[in-house]
Amino acid sequence: MKLKLAPGLAVKKSKINGMGCFSTAFFPKGRKIAEYAGERITSSEGERRLRTREKHRICALDDDWSVDGSRGGNGTHYLNHSCEPNTYMRTTHGHLLFMALRDIHPGEEITCDYISTYHPDTYKCRCKSPKCRGTINRK
Ligand SMILES: [Zn+2]
Repeated sequence: MKLKLAPGLAVKKSKINGMGCFSTAFFPKGRKIAEYAGERITSSEGERRLRTREKHRICALDDDWSVDGSRGGNGTHYLNHSCEPNTYMRTTHGHLLFMALRDIHPGEEITCDYISTYHPDTYKCRCKSPKCRGTINRK
């Protein structure tokens, strides 16, 4: 199945980690970039999938629900973590949205500080930012 990307986004090889999500348009500060799209699943189903898969594409919506971007995702599931990100994540009415923290120009890699992930706390961050804290999860 071909990936249907959100408008203004492209998936390309990233210097940070594997594939990344890049802008093809100009997003002014404060603008919504895209929704974290995917299959809506219960948290227990999310935990089951996390145990059986190497790549994590699951994002918690709240205590009960999660979104699996590897099924029906729009490219945002390739968004890499950075300790100096250009977007932040907001939950609005049951939707996970990436919002621009600053003006983002075409060609820039889109990143988000995931703060707390399903990765172990020892999982190393390779975002290369001078402000990198060394691990993806914030302690
Ligand atoms: Zn980092």
